Amino acid sequence: MASSKILLITGVSSGFGRALAQEALAAGHKVVGTVRSAEAKRDFESLSARAFGRVLDVTDFDAIDGIVAEIETAVGPVDVLVNNAGYGHEGVMEESPLSEMRRQFDVNVFGAVAMMKAVLPLMRERRRGHILNITSMGGYITMPGITYYCGSKFALEGISEALGKEVKAFGIAVTAVAPGSFRTDWAGRSMTRTPRSIGDYNHIFDPIRKAREEKSGKQLGDPQKAARAMLAAIAADRPPAHLLLGSDALGLVRDKLSVLEDEIRDWEAVTVSTDG
Ligand code: NAP
Repeated sequence: MASSKILLITGVSSGFGRALAQEALAAGHKVVGTVRSAEAKRDFESLSARAFGRVLDVTDFDAIDGIVAEIETAVGPVDVLVNNAGYGHEGVMEESPLSEMRRQFDVNVFGAVAMMKAVLPLMRERRRGHILNITSMGGYITMPGITYYCGSKFALEGISEALGKEVKAFGIAVTAVAPGSFRTDWAGRSMTRTPRSIGDYNHIFDPIRKAREEKSGKQLGDPQKAARAMLAAIAADRPPAHLLLGSDALGLVRDKLSVLEDEIRDWEAVTVSTDG
């Protein structure tokens, strides 16, 4: 095994967070995992003597610095932060209230940024550290019906990439991990669905919602294999700034980049016409 590390992972009750925690524990690392209830904390800590649960909703921004400081004292220096906690909002944008967008960004973006801001002074002081932000292929490609979700994941992709440039000189790596579709609770119990209200969108949106509900639990990706891929990125001497997970993500993101390149070429004359 590579050297033992302390990982701080948000959202270890299920899905990627749980799988990564289990694989990291099996590899000999210590894992501090955040959950949202005392029961989930007990359940997580029953995995191993090296599993330390902490109760935290990542939108409780004011509590985050204190929890990270307490973790450093009680468990040790956080070598790796994994911003995994997140959920999907599904709904046609015109039908979905701004409050749903705020909540989506509070959890998927502001919570992750608050966690990063809490560990960065400590990692910078130590001149080492690795931050993984679980984004999504929805941070590259877009799909109708999950506009707020895609927006939040595009935001986290951009923040990850820019932050990586700010902290590289301090020995801190930032990796945005973008999974395709995996068998987690994402499209099941965790998804927030705005009720339908505008008939005009029925033909676009109803098949999408139905397909997502039917596919839930049968997605191509295996979270345990994703966890192993993330551990490989954590062990790398030069971790990637971006890591796609899953052949669906690979194909769809490549298609997007190729369509984008075509459109850039088609409009190139107009693009350069504004210089001077
Ligand atoms: P999941 O099984 O539903 O797990 C989500 C985890 O996030 C749970 O532990 C949940 O805790 C936690 N969480 C949600 N809101 C939170 C909050 N406000 N504060 C603290 N914890 C919170 O789904 P998952 O697929 O593993 O999701 C993990 C990440 O992967 C998310 O960021 C998701 O967007 C991303 N992702 C998933 C897929 C996929 O296909 N599954 C694809 C691309 C990206 P509770 O148990 O307390 O709700």
